[in-house]
Amino acid sequence: MTDIKSLDLSEIENLITEMGEPKFRATQIFKWLHLGVDSFDEMTDISLKLRERLKESCYIASLKIVRRLISRIDGTVKYLYELRDGETIESVLMKYEHGYSLCISTQVGCRMGCGFCATGLGGLVRDLTPSEMLAQITTAQKDQNVRISNVVMMGMGEPLDNFEASVKFLQLVSHPKGLNIGLRHISLSTSGVVTGIEKLSDYGFPITLSVSLHSPFDNIRTDMMPVNKKWNIDALLSACKTYQKKTTRRISFEYALIEGKNDTKECAEELAHKLKGIMCHINLIPVNPVKENDNRSPDKNKILKFKNWLTDLGLNATVRRTLGADINASCGQLRRREGGKSSDS
Ligand code: SAH
Ligand code: SF4
Repeated sequence: MTDIKSLDLSEIENLITEMGEPKFRATQIFKWLHLGVDSFDEMTDISLKLRERLKESCYIASLKIVRRLISRIDGTVKYLYELRDGETIESVLMKYEHGYSLCISTQVGCRMGCGFCATGLGGLVRDLTPSEMLAQITTAQKDQNVRISNVVMMGMGEPLDNFEASVKFLQLVSHPKGLNIGLRHISLSTSGVVTGIEKLSDYGFPITLSVSLHSPFDNIRTDMMPVNKKWNIDALLSACKTYQKKTTRRISFEYALIEGKNDTKECAEELAHKLKGIMCHINLIPVNPVKENDNRSPDKNKILKFKNWLTDLGLNATVRRTLGADINASCGQLRRREGGKSSDS
């Protein structure tokens, strides 16, 4: 069966001209898919005959909402979605002044093994398809009756370890006849897959690249993130510079603060030194404790102190606003608590 929601317009054109149908029908089908229909029968302007033929050879990737947690503090909605094969993933819908933003997953699990991350603890189960990334958006939009204008690829998984599908997703989600979410409104977060950053720079997408740096020292970073053994900080930052040269986009560095680990003045100073020459913004995130390790976030004052060291050193740094604190923020934690595959399946 063909995963029709992962196809671009020209691929749908090929599919239906092979069925003897006129090309223009492809646009109608494409529009329906991106509106978020879950069955071919909802495509009311398509002939019954064509709908039947599509049903025989294609499926529409759909998600079932297994859990929906709504924050009483700020209305943030956290979803646990079930995929066709019973696996589960998470998305988080956040409301900002300028609209709605959805944090999406790109894999079931993750193979990068960062010790502080709930997703990394269980390893990689499988990659998501472009359609499963899109369906996280269309399902949340329908569920809450809102239009999502911003997307962050910052949920479960490493998008650059699922490169082809992530690129196809970016092309589909920004298509004017589809969801039409501008690439400037999309961020992709990576743990530092250097070959992926290099390949991505060739596409010249005007997305925001977020790089999870978390430490300017190789020994600390390797301890937190095994990926640093393969590509160390110098290799990573050199890829970031190349990326910036090609795209002229400001890079965002994520920095999850862990008490006593990466929150010292020495870290702030080395960070300023290492990031010299890169047009960037630093996003400070109080680490979210997971029960498998004893990481703790520094208190509010220490976080502010760290931020001020950075700004005094000329860096552009902000502390990320915590949304949905009461519904267990960090991605991967809900799926882990529910034990992976959906219990309903
Ligand atoms: N794999 C990609 C994107 C998903 S993780 C990446 O690592 O960048 C999204 C962000 O959440 C990353 O910056 C990651 O380091 C951070 N993160 C993961 N677990 C966290 C935790 N327990 N507390 C704070 N940030 C966390
Ligand atoms: Fe994977 Fe990102 Fe978690 Fe690391 S932080 S294990 S790369 S999802």
